[in-house]
Amino acid sequence: MTQPTWPSLEAIAQAVRACRACDLHRTRTQAVPGEGPATARVMLIGEAPGAHEDRTGRPFVGAAGKTLDRLLNLAGLRREQVFITNLVKCRPPKNRDPRPAELAACRPFLRGQIALLDPVLIFTLGRFALQYFFPGARIGQLHGKPVQRGSRWIVPMYHPAAALYRPALAPVLEADFRAARPLVARLLNTQA
Ligand code: SF4
Repeated sequence: MTQPTWPSLEAIAQAVRACRACDLHRTRTQAVPGEGPATARVMLIGEAPGAHEDRTGRPFVGAAGKTLDRLLNLAGLRREQVFITNLVKCRPPKNRDPRPAELAACRPFLRGQIALLDPVLIFTLGRFALQYFFPGARIGQLHGKPVQRGSRWIVPMYHPAAALYRPALAPVLEADFRAARPLVARLLNTQA
């Protein structure tokens, strides 16, 4: 099947808000296309919107969002610099895992966002986002380890929400984001 090519991130966002390609459209309050500058060189990809995101239509705005802001700072980044989105753009009921059919239906949107942004660095957040790039990979083995793919780097991270319900992961996440700081500085030509 030919994949759609999108003229802009806003065109993708509009298509997401109107999308009914999977059952998640039935239970969403608002779709959450993702946000950040069209010039962003760093992208963060999570799993799916949660309750706060579903209400506001914005990614990572709840407690996990506050954690993410702090983690970004450790890596030498600010939220305004990065583009943040999820694998699926509508909230799964009761925050259950996204199903394979939902992941497949939503894939063209993320693919389009990556193609338009062409980021030099992608942080994947959690195991589902990791497996988008590395099918079958385990987050416990790959977290914090940058992988180069052509001119792009992918850094798998635990999901910031994991630190909220598994406090032992908080220092691991902090160490991984802090360790990414020199790579961020090198790729963006900034001070570490
Ligand atoms: S999750 Fe993705 S594919 Fe499913 S309805 Fe929402 S935007 Fe469409």
